[in-house]
Amino acid sequence: MTVKRILILLITIQFASFLPAADAVPLPQLLDRTGARLAWDSYRDHGTLSRGTTIVSFAPGRRSAVLNSTENLFIGEVSMEDGALYFSEEAASRLEAVFAPPERTGDGRYVTAIYIDPGHGGKDPGTIGRHRINGQVIELHEKDIVLDVSRRLREMLAQRYPEKEVMLSRDEDIYLTLEERTALANEVEVAKNEAIIYLSIHANASLNSNATGFEVWYLPPEYRRRNLIDARTAGVDDPDVLNILNTIREEEFTIESVLLAQNIVDSLDTQVGAVSTNRGIKEESWYVVRNAKMPSVLVELGFVTNPGEIMRLRDSDYLNKLALGIYNGISTFITSFEE
Ligand SMILES: [Zn+2]
Repeated sequence: MTVKRILILLITIQFASFLPAADAVPLPQLLDRTGARLAWDSYRDHGTLSRGTTIVSFAPGRRSAVLNSTENLFIGEVSMEDGALYFSEEAASRLEAVFAPPERTGDGRYVTAIYIDPGHGGKDPGTIGRHRINGQVIELHEKDIVLDVSRRLREMLAQRYPEKEVMLSRDEDIYLTLEERTALANEVEVAKNEAIIYLSIHANASLNSNATGFEVWYLPPEYRRRNLIDARTAGVDDPDVLNILNTIREEEFTIESVLLAQNIVDSLDTQVGAVSTNRGIKEESWYVVRNAKMPSVLVELGFVTNPGEIMRLRDSDYLNKLALGIYNGISTFITSFEE
């Protein structure tokens, strides 16, 4: 073999190790096809793809992966070239099958994910209730009770709907920008006939310390188009609530949002109606818009400015009833949405 031939051979080998196969599927395309998200552990050169409750752990160079931490799953070739991941067409189509949403009959609609957004957090306490009751100063921050109720709600929903993705915008006392709040929900892949439920949780305040009760908001499309929400017409004095009402990604505020709001109000009434006030749903305009993707509501749990209500909102059993009320409303909605 001549020197020239050896050189050509070396160059070919060199090239081969940097060029993925012609039909290799690059990572972004794979994520697109499967709807999965990747978490990469660069220390162990190990990746995790997840969508909903399905999790596949894999490593480049190994042809088999692990499904949901228990099952071995043959996927085929995965390689790392120049710091980028490539999947053979075989691996890509196997993964696609693993992550495909469960087969549903006919045109059945399906709720893929439930996104719970506890208002405020971190440097933003939300509304603060401070009362002197029996010589004792009682102080309550909106950010804390909305997180508490949101966590309980997540547990209830995750237990009932293991196949659905149940997400919190924040699971701790941190500040999120409005963009960060909605980013996760907007990332979820929603196929035709699928929907995400978007739920924002807040507590109320009023200059009138007699005001009490829970209420649920939805936004009719006319607000969206004219971008008309201002504090006075909406009767809202929490700027954060106004911001959310103005920015939830939604060209389709729909009849679904109204139904969801009504279901939640009704079941909150069943849980706490005897002690609190049912203030109802806050927009009664009735619009039918086709193809809802994200029925969205905003729940106000009660008024921290009312001395009686603040005592209830400090009570763990009461917060549990609020979570249960919202949970029951959501399940009723899902049952009728998916039937
Ligand atoms: Zn708020």
